[in-house]
This record gives sequence, C-alpha cells and structure tokens, in this order.
Amino acid sequence: MKDSLKSLEAKIIACRRCPRLVAWREEVAQVKRKAYLDKIYWGKPVPGFGDPQARILIVGLAPGAHGSNRTGRMFTGDASGDFLYPALHRAGLASQPGADLPGDGLRLNDAFITAICRCVPPNNRPHVAEIKNCLPWMEAEINLLENLQGFVALGRIAFDGIRRMVTAQGIDLPKMDFGHNAFYELGKGLPWLLSSYHPSQQNTLTGRLTETMFSAIWERVNTLIRD
Ligand code: SF4
Repeated sequence: MKDSLKSLEAKIIACRRCPRLVAWREEVAQVKRKAYLDKIYWGKPVPGFGDPQARILIVGLAPGAHGSNRTGRMFTGDASGDFLYPALHRAGLASQPGADLPGDGLRLNDAFITAICRCVPPNNRPHVAEIKNCLPWMEAEINLLENLQGFVALGRIAFDGIRRMVTAQGIDLPKMDFGHNAFYELGKGLPWLLSSYHPSQQNTLTGRLTETMFSAIWERVNTLIRD
C-alpha cells in the first residue's frame, strides 16, 4: 500500500468523531458473540482496503458487528463477505474467494473496498450526521486512488452517500434512482456509478440478490473498465 494510504489508514483508525458509534463499536467488541468469546475484536473504525491502483471503488454501508468490527478488514469474517469475495474472485478482482482474517492472503486486483460509515452502527443504521462525519474519509481515499474510473455502491445507503458526497462538492447530478445494476454517469471527469443490492443475508437468503444477479454486476464492471 502507498505511504499516503497508510498514513490515511492510521488517521481513520484513530477517529472518534461520532460518540454514539464509538461507544457501540467498543461495547460490541467487549460483549462479543458466543462463537467468538475467545477472540480479540478490532473494535475500531475500519479503513479501506485493496489495490492502490484500483480503477473501481466498491462502497459498502458499515462494518458488520461480528464481521469487520471483529476482524478489522472490510467485509471480512461474516456472511456478506462470504457472498462478496467469491463473486469478486470469479470476476478476477480478488485473489481468492475466502476472507477470514487479515493475513489470510487475500489481495484485490483493480478494486478498493470502502464504506460510507467506518464504525458499526446499532441495527446497521448510521444516522445522517454520522454519515456526514465519515464521508470525508472516503473522499480522502478517493483523492489517493489516481486511476479511479467508477464506483460500485452496495445498497441504497451507499448509493445515497456517494450522491451526497458528490453534490456536497457543488456538482449537480441528474435524477438517479437506486436499483440493482442501475448505471449512471456522474459527469465529465467524474467516476461512473453502478448500484447493486447489498450482499447482506437479508437479501441473499431471501433471493432478492442471487449469485447470478451479483455476478452480472462484476461482469459489467469488467466491461466498463475495459472500454
Ligand atoms: S463513523 Fe467515521 S467519522 Fe464516525 S467515529 Fe467512526 S470513523 Fe469516525
């Protein structure tokens, strides 16, 4: 990872801007889930992770309580990651389909993964003010990803967060509706935006998001970055 991304990572990990989320991430890390009682939880903000030369930025919602709030790496150690990384691997964007813990050998190719909120929120619902507090971290990552061509928003909240970040820069956006595999140009010189249903169990176990639907996203990404 480039030095500048490393120093940004250190700043993100030290962030305590949102009192409610600081308290919650630390409480979850203390109380733990039964299956992980003997494990040490990360319990801090989770920085972005991936290829510094990435052409795509994958944007999630927030760490899972017992996933990345436990492991310290985006989408690692929970069911959402178990659905995401095999799909990225099939598309050639991840070196392996599994993501258990940092140090497991997983590398991303041409992709960087981040989230609009770095600390686990109660009920997976960050407040708007907390998202606003956190978006500058994503903006800082984007500024360091020099080859960036597109965003993939995983879920409506990520989609809205990206729009919020862009409009806060004084850029007018066209009317955009969230949907699975909906594609938008954000404007000249800006990355494009592709939206996907979030790979949470709420979607994957109900059939709202199937493996085929999710693969279509990454196949489209590969077509877009090849053009
Ligand atoms: S959610 Fe973001 S801004 Fe808020 S404390 Fe965590 S890292 Fe900081």
